[in-house]
Amino acid sequence: MSWVASIARSDIVALKAYEHAAWEPDVTRLHANELPWRAPGDHSFQGLNRYPEPQPRELIQRLASLYRVPSSAVLVGRGSDEAIDLLIRGFCRAGQDAVLVCPPTFGMYAVCAQIHGAQVLSVPLRSEDGFSLDEEAVLERCTPEVKIVFLCSPNNPTGNLLSARAIRRIAKALTGRSLVAVDEAYVEFSGEESLTRHLPKLTNLAILRTLSKAHGLAGARCGTLIADPEVISLLKKVISPYAITQLTLEAVMKLVDPSNVATMRERTGLIRAERERVAQALSRLKCVKRVWPSCANFILAEFEDAARALSQASAAQLQVRDARGYPGLSNALRITIGTAAQNERLLQAWA
Ligand code: PMP
Repeated sequence: MSWVASIARSDIVALKAYEHAAWEPDVTRLHANELPWRAPGDHSFQGLNRYPEPQPRELIQRLASLYRVPSSAVLVGRGSDEAIDLLIRGFCRAGQDAVLVCPPTFGMYAVCAQIHGAQVLSVPLRSEDGFSLDEEAVLERCTPEVKIVFLCSPNNPTGNLLSARAIRRIAKALTGRSLVAVDEAYVEFSGEESLTRHLPKLTNLAILRTLSKAHGLAGARCGTLIADPEVISLLKKVISPYAITQLTLEAVMKLVDPSNVATMRERTGLIRAERERVAQALSRLKCVKRVWPSCANFILAEFEDAARALSQASAAQLQVRDARGYPGLSNALRITIGTAAQNERLLQAWA
């Protein structure tokens, strides 16, 4: 039995996948109970009267070349949120298996696990050391029930990168035992390379990428899981057959091309420059106690009185994220970097 089959849910391994209508664009479709006419005003390329292609080949190829990985290692879904959910549903038996998370971190790992009935084990990041990864503690907590270790780098909400060396060490130690899912939603803002280049050697790595952040396509809902082809094949059985809408497919094919990737790079450069300017300006404000260094498109800051800072922002018609609910972040707010003018309004509200 392969390592993927040995750690995945055996009922999913044995499951016969749903057979969706065959996708042959040149043959007249009388097999999918669709209407033969477009709705009035439907100007989409293919026609929304037709079901979209499941795991559209051209989209998979586009994402594979964007992320420089083989197409067989790519699964596309509704944002990386869906990839998180699929991993848990494919690998964790409700009431038996567990995921491991490193708080304070993105909440969806634990929420999806809880919805599914998987246990959530926590190994906090070391707040006293810039929220670094406690690799020894992670490895110690990884009992055989832990099927997925979720690591977020750069981490939301703290903004720091986790050590690539520590992640690789964890993945190596857990080879054949657990998946190590590295959420790289913000990696484009960090200037660091993706860990996908280690996939050929560390086959239990699963990398999450998204078009929602640096590519500016949060509304399109398009996220990518990059993993061992056997993990991808397994999760194709779990994902709903028409997850990617025709509208998303057409938008991404139009908007994520090499010329727009150049714009994306330019804009991430602008956000990084603005991030450093805002961080410095924040650290000079009396109401701010501390600003954590960030490698993402947001900044985490500790305030003298976070409730007051929140109400000052909202009086100026500005929203920032209340981070006080995260363990250990009692007076913290998370601030997304906007345009220079938006950032200036926020700084003025707190001046
Ligand atoms: N991962 C992280 C770390 C995030 O912060 C977010 C969104 N806030 C996501 C994943 C989900 O992104 P999406 O589903 O839009 O790809």
